[in-house]
Amino acid sequence: MIVVMNQNAPQPTIDRVVREIERMGCQAHLSQGRFRTVIGAVGEEGTIDQNHLASLDGVEKVVPIMKPYKLASREFHEEDTVVEVGGGKTPVVKIGGPHAATIAGPCAVENEKMLWTIARHVRDGGATILRGGVYKPRTSPYSFQGLGEAALKWIRACGDELGMPICVEVMDTRQVELMETYVDCFQIGARNMQNFDLLREVGKTRKPVLLKRGLAASVKDWLLSAEYVLSQGNRSVILCERGIKTFEDSIRYSLDVTSIPVVNQWSHLPVIVDPSHAAGKRDYVCALALAGMAAGANGIIVEVHYCPSEAQCDGPQALLPETFKDLMVQLRQVAAIYNREFTPAEQLTTAN
Ligand code: PEP
Ligand code: MN
Repeated sequence: MIVVMNQNAPQPTIDRVVREIERMGCQAHLSQGRFRTVIGAVGEEGTIDQNHLASLDGVEKVVPIMKPYKLASREFHEEDTVVEVGGGKTPVVKIGGPHAATIAGPCAVENEKMLWTIARHVRDGGATILRGGVYKPRTSPYSFQGLGEAALKWIRACGDELGMPICVEVMDTRQVELMETYVDCFQIGARNMQNFDLLREVGKTRKPVLLKRGLAASVKDWLLSAEYVLSQGNRSVILCERGIKTFEDSIRYSLDVTSIPVVNQWSHLPVIVDPSHAAGKRDYVCALALAGMAAGANGIIVEVHYCPSEAQCDGPQALLPETFKDLMVQLRQVAAIYNREFTPAEQLTTAN
């Protein structure tokens, strides 16, 4: 249910509606628009007295949200959400609305020298957020699993030094507390998109969450997963289309570019694309990245390596630094069509 307040409704009337929603045993979530406040009343069906809410001072109307995901829906929040990543020692990078951004780096943080070299390359190429896994979801338990906290320390120091917020995958609820002290953005991997406990746990933090689409998840499932995070009070969710399983076997996954306009219509949350994991092979990465941007994405997350043959993880899909740099030039051109901008690092500030 959403309670739409009159334009410029006084604060005490808003507070009263919130109290009444809570008294009914539901949660109240405020969405402050440019002109009016919308209050989402979320709880079990049947517990909300719609007529009572409609009779309160300052209330224009009470309407049900038709979508199963409430807080993630455009009905609840009409304007595009802009998620801010970083701050403190690094600049703030905005993703959403007119702001596009590129998250780039190695698949996994394998050693310090490799990390710093790649980080410098991607920063010089135009990426503003650094990625790198320290806990890796691998199909085989005998494959490289990531270096854990040691690698977290390296990537934090590297991000701080180069002025890049860091985005790192969290795989388990037990890692959240430790990682929260290091990372600027939690990445939830495709295989964990429906790990509901993990979604709730990152939802309790106030760090942005990059939520990959599951390998076999519908857009609706994906938005319901975002809802788990939002329902805990964390408003900073960035969706990431990374390809789904189809019968096509010429590529690793099929990048579902269609999901981008669909998400943009159904939800206010920003959506980016991951061309690397969809392609599985560097030859296809640039085309998929550009296709995603052309479909209306707010940026990309991409794997880059200066010596992919040495990578312990996902080498074949890593872009070479020069290719990455060229791709950024093209991405800026596509973004401009939609009046979106990849803010250059030198124009970022630490203030929110
Ligand atoms: C990754 O980003 O390295 C990764 C494992 O991605 P995904 O969860 O999309 O497979
Ligand atoms: Mn990878």
